Amino acid sequence: MTCAECGAPQIPRPCQDLFHELLALDHSGRAPWAPVHTVVVATFYLQHSSPVAAAGRATHWAILQMYLRDGLDALLAAARQAVRRNSHRFGGRRPTVDDYPGGPPFPVAAPAPGRFTTTIVDVAVDGTFPPDGHEDRVRRWAAATVAAWTAATDR
Ligand SMILES: [Zn+2]
Repeated sequence: MTCAECGAPQIPRPCQDLFHELLALDHSGRAPWAPVHTVVVATFYLQHSSPVAAAGRATHWAILQMYLRDGLDALLAAARQAVRRNSHRFGGRRPTVDDYPGGPPFPVAAPAPGRFTTTIVDVAVDGTFPPDGHEDRVRRWAAATVAAWTAATDR
């Protein structure tokens, strides 16, 4: 059994289950998981579609572009700025591509890749998302996601 969306083997657990376990680690507030939470969410939803996430794809894409180009510190600074800016607006607003400028636009016309060289199963390692090397694995996961969508654009 492989995931129809990212191509990962669904053993020991399906992608969605792993994702929820990873989110629990992110929300623990501990490093190395918490600092890369934004990257994790953007990457997972660029590998897995959901009606809610589809609307955010362009923003997720802009987040990964900035992370891979400028690094985690720059991304976190932009995220903090977005929160500040958005909290001043009536009713608030979700982050947009304008909060993470400088990258190429999301390839809206590209077909979903369906396979990625790095998936959440690789980030999970033995299923526990071990702390050693976690950020490196997340970075490879993000880079593989951008690479696959970029290749899909050229098909
Ligand atoms: Zn998957």
